Amino acid sequence: MASQGSGGNEIERLASALARLPGLGPRSARRAVLWLVKRREDALVELLASLTAVRDSLVECETCGNVDTANPCHVCTDPRRDARSICVVEDVADLWALDRAKLYNGRYHVLGGRLSALDGVGPEDLTIGQLLTRVEAGVDEVVLAMNATLEGQTTSHYIAERLEGMPVRVTQLAHGLPVGGELDYMDEGTLAQALRARRPVS
Ligand SMILES: [Zn+2]
Repeated sequence: MASQGSGGNEIERLASALARLPGLGPRSARRAVLWLVKRREDALVELLASLTAVRDSLVECETCGNVDTANPCHVCTDPRRDARSICVVEDVADLWALDRAKLYNGRYHVLGGRLSALDGVGPEDLTIGQLLTRVEAGVDEVVLAMNATLEGQTTSHYIAERLEGMPVRVTQLAHGLPVGGELDYMDEGTLAQALRARRPVS
């Protein structure tokens, strides 16, 4: 029984576009398409409008790498935030997770990934140079908030080494974070705890 390709070209196209989203396989993508088709007048229209708005207004902050509707982003321009503390994260999702926890009041720096010999990601592929420039411009503390994975920790050590000798306090998240833990999957309590108990990089 060939039930899989029975939805017509447009529907198949939508389903395979959705199936490329993280966390959605082909099966849930088809279910999402059916759900949207049944709610064409409200949910589909609303989804279209917000996708268009995102396409038209989102930009990457040239200072920190955040994704926002303004460049520099609202975090970098918020005068209530401590400009002399920078929290370094792997991805924008980590920045958002930490920011949701509302316990850190400095600014951020998004690396754009992690060092990985396996995937051929070297220091020049990340925004480490830009980070050093920001630190040289005058920063008191750098908080390394990499994921508790082997690659995350390798990245953390590498950056700590590059910061050695600079007049800046380098701390890292206390890893009450489970090993292998990725920041954007942490609940806010765990994140808050890790941030509060941050300690100097040894
Ligand atoms: Zn920014």
